Amino acid sequence: MKLHSVGLTLFLTASLWLPAHAQDKGMVNPQPLPPLANPNDPKNPAKELFGRKLTPSSMQARAIGFYAKGCLGGGIALPINGKTWQVMRLSRNRNWGHPDLVKTLERLADKGPKLGWAGLLVGDMAQPRGGPMRTGHTSHQVGLDADIWLTPMPPRQLTVLEREEMSATNVVAADKRDVDTKIWTLQHHAIIKAAAEDPGVERIIVNAAIKKAMCREAVGTNRYWLRKVRPWYGHNYHFHIRIACPKDSPDCKPQDPTPESDGCNDLAYWFQDKIINAVPPKDPKPWTGPTLADLPAACRQVLLAP
Ligand SMILES: [Zn+2]
Repeated sequence: MKLHSVGLTLFLTASLWLPAHAQDKGMVNPQPLPPLANPNDPKNPAKELFGRKLTPSSMQARAIGFYAKGCLGGGIALPINGKTWQVMRLSRNRNWGHPDLVKTLERLADKGPKLGWAGLLVGDMAQPRGGPMRTGHTSHQVGLDADIWLTPMPPRQLTVLEREEMSATNVVAADKRDVDTKIWTLQHHAIIKAAAEDPGVERIIVNAAIKKAMCREAVGTNRYWLRKVRPWYGHNYHFHIRIACPKDSPDCKPQDPTPESDGCNDLAYWFQDKIINAVPPKDPKPWTGPTLADLPAACRQVLLAP
């Protein structure tokens, strides 16, 4: 199996052993993080700096750097309640993104009712100023990535507690070789397909079993959009959408384009025993991530801006 770019390889490899966390519960009133002992120490991991910023930087919106190594200037929030979406795990304060991402999510959510879902449950986007996160992701740093639950939005407003404690839905069968046909529906397919057909969306990441099911179900139709639906570990409770570098962001580093092929004949790799039953190392070394100096220089201004 080919991995298609160094950037993608980095993003995917680094995210391999980090828990997905989409389904992990949160708390309604989380304790604020204690201040850093030495906030100006250049050795501080950038995740500790960006993880303590509760508001966006006041500047023009721009995505800076690469999806897995950068930050977000002038981020805006996806409102926590829309007609066709609700934000989950509010305690994480990760419903921030570049305005293009917010528009893309609103556009996709709006299609939900036509496709059989009342709307979308939106998981992690980015922190208010983007940057590396203390938990859960190596990408999601520049405000162009978002996780969408594989659970339709219920036709009522969820309570704050439900948004912390409700679990997303695992659509993959216990043997991991296919979707669970009692749970997976054509509406799941339709929502992911609609996301892939959105011109702004560059990639969608799903569990390999989901890709396998979608390849099977898309027989006989135009399959070109399937090239954007990329198999990876995890992603059985949520799918991940990634949009292209925005025009207003000259410092945004694009990914290599997806291959032209639909990728449906390249799935065998994912169903080998050693891959499907890969066990995370017992005591994974905690991910320290980059320091501020490792990130693009403009991220320092993003961090220091009012
Ligand atoms: Zn994600």
